[in-house]
Amino acid sequence: MALEIKKKSAGIGMTSQRTRERMVERLRDKGIRDERVLAAMASVPRHLFVEEALASRAYEDTALPIGLGQTISQPFVVARMIELILDREKPPRKVLEVGTGCGYQAAVLARLVPEVYSIERLKGLHERARANLLGQRLANLRLVHGDGNVGLEKAAPFDGIVVAAAAPAMPEALLRQIAPGGRMVLPLRGPHREAQRLVLIERSGRALTERVLDPVRFVPLEAGKA
Ligand code: SAH
Repeated sequence: MALEIKKKSAGIGMTSQRTRERMVERLRDKGIRDERVLAAMASVPRHLFVEEALASRAYEDTALPIGLGQTISQPFVVARMIELILDREKPPRKVLEVGTGCGYQAAVLARLVPEVYSIERLKGLHERARANLLGQRLANLRLVHGDGNVGLEKAAPFDGIVVAAAAPAMPEALLRQIAPGGRMVLPLRGPHREAQRLVLIERSGRALTERVLDPVRFVPLEAGKA
């Protein structure tokens, strides 16, 4: 029996390495260029972050439900946001993710950035992410249960901030927590409930520049923790 189980999980491991590589090839075809990001995505076992019933779909380039009305982000969007954060002269040393969800993007970030903080408002998901990440030995990743709208003052400023839920308006506290030369990428809804767009903010000294990028679909950034 024990042998049977062992053989089975080894089989899953091999298949998922191959399917993961195929996922990475698709990301490359869709325009992800940063080899560091592609390598990190090739190494994180995304199937461990979704429910077992959905594991066979884990390497499709789609968002999937993770319970409590939330989703695991689409791999292309994860790659795109991280690529945008890394795209600067000095690689970021400290990054904040808002919206841990199941912890997938946090695991990818922690392979690329020396110090990663990820904040989640739902206690249930915060705990699930902790369980999902247990086997991954990511000593440089801190998970926080709290409201990401206010950022994480005690660890600020950040060289990069990645927001994984769509805000109705620019979260001011997060703007203040971007380090000089740092970047923030977030999905924004616009004042009239328009379609969401990915927005890239860059700080140089006191000045902030804003670039509106791809249309995206994220769950909403909610207020307060629960
Ligand atoms: N980063 C995840 C995607 C999570 S979906 C991944 O790797 O797949 C977005 C998450 O943001 C949800 O879990 C939701 O509960 C969380 N969220 C929404 N509003 C928030 C807030 N104000 N602070 C922190 N997390 C928030």
